[in-house]
Amino acid sequence: MGVQKEIKELEVAKLPELQHRNFRNDEFWKKIPGWANVSRAEFSDHKWQTKNSIRKIDQCKKVLGKLLKEEIYQDMLEGQKITPMNIRITPYIFALIDWEDAANDPLRKQFLPLGSQFLEDHPFYREDSLSEDDDSPVPMITHRYPDKVLFLPTSICPVYCSYCTRSRLIGGSTESVEKETYGANQKNWEAAFDYLMKMPLIEDVVISGGDSYMLTPAQIEHIGESLLKIPHIRRIRFATKGIAIFPQKILTDDAWVMALKKVHRLGLSFGKQVVVHTHFSCPREITKWSQMAMDRLYQIGILVRNQAVLQAGVNDKVEDMVLLTRQLSYMNIQPYYVYQHDMVPGCEHFRTTLREAVEIEKAVRGTTAGFNTPTFVCDLPGGGGKRHVASYEYYDEENGISVWRAPYVKPNEHFLYFDPIHKLSKEAQERWADPKKQQEMIDAAVKASGVQS
Ligand code: SF4
Repeated sequence: MGVQKEIKELEVAKLPELQHRNFRNDEFWKKIPGWANVSRAEFSDHKWQTKNSIRKIDQCKKVLGKLLKEEIYQDMLEGQKITPMNIRITPYIFALIDWEDAANDPLRKQFLPLGSQFLEDHPFYREDSLSEDDDSPVPMITHRYPDKVLFLPTSICPVYCSYCTRSRLIGGSTESVEKETYGANQKNWEAAFDYLMKMPLIEDVVISGGDSYMLTPAQIEHIGESLLKIPHIRRIRFATKGIAIFPQKILTDDAWVMALKKVHRLGLSFGKQVVVHTHFSCPREITKWSQMAMDRLYQIGILVRNQAVLQAGVNDKVEDMVLLTRQLSYMNIQPYYVYQHDMVPGCEHFRTTLREAVEIEKAVRGTTAGFNTPTFVCDLPGGGGKRHVASYEYYDEENGISVWRAPYVKPNEHFLYFDPIHKLSKEAQERWADPKKQQEMIDAAVKASGVQS
């Protein structure tokens, strides 16, 4: 009877509607020649994952051998001359890449850029597109919304994403960009805690970076306790991409998980929220390990929400976004936000038009419960904050210019988001090539919006 039930469940799981319940559990890393003899126990160990993370293109060649096609290898070397992000990728994600079709693989695209994929940056890109530094009253704090702050205790991560919005400071200098990356150092956080103590309106703190995975258990506890003891702070969120790209840490780094559990318990005892925000981009990142890691966090009682960035060739197909949404929900992760890609350097190939975001949002809405449906937002360049993608004041689709307002955050300003030029008509692309016409198009869009600044 038990066997029959299992067979029936397997058949059901093959239905396309139930694809999200299939979590791959094969030994996929063994296809990588350098890891063919790595046991499941070794691959499951967070220390092995950290030690064997890929930091250089030559390491790719070493572990992949003949699986790495020469043209991809050369193209990745070219990519290193252009990208603002260094390489760091866990064996888990590296082994999930389809190296037979590396050029089109959504995981390769996110972490190992090809020189041939880069496009010229939009004329209005900015290194700090969201003006986080302008809204920073003390180092490591961005204070934009009245009751919420962003705290960046470190600027290192377990992986480096090519699409990172903070490429200006994350992950160390590259061939093309000088940056002042900093590791987690408790002594440097006092000014941030002092500031938060003196600001009674603040109730919500996002601990990001960088990535909370890179904080030691003692640092997780120190940050958690310091924040929770500030009377007016009601909610803290540890942000980490870790669950998506390195679930083994949740399963085998007991000290780290216990530190999180301790902070969560302290939060409960104070009647305050301690949650985790993570960052899955696409279904291909999800395996049985993701589900097991989430089971562990869920059993501890930790709520996890997901924030994804919309990226061309990674998750810009409706079916992929629907599947991702369902998989996350199934694992007890709440799909919270999908961001329109920020206008930062080296990312033009990733960006979609605003229209594409609106259409994907429209298609995803209704596929599952509302509380598990992500809100698609555009984080306004210049610091207007997050706005629903369909809440623009005016959208000149022909020239890819949208005009926005942020009535509460900055009531007397207007904000502009620009679609990637390569996705516009040939005529519009020609207009963008002329700086005088650029300004005319922008002035006309602002005038048509009726927004005064
Ligand atoms: S994990 Fe987050 S902060 Fe770190 S590189 Fe990726 S997107 Fe940037």
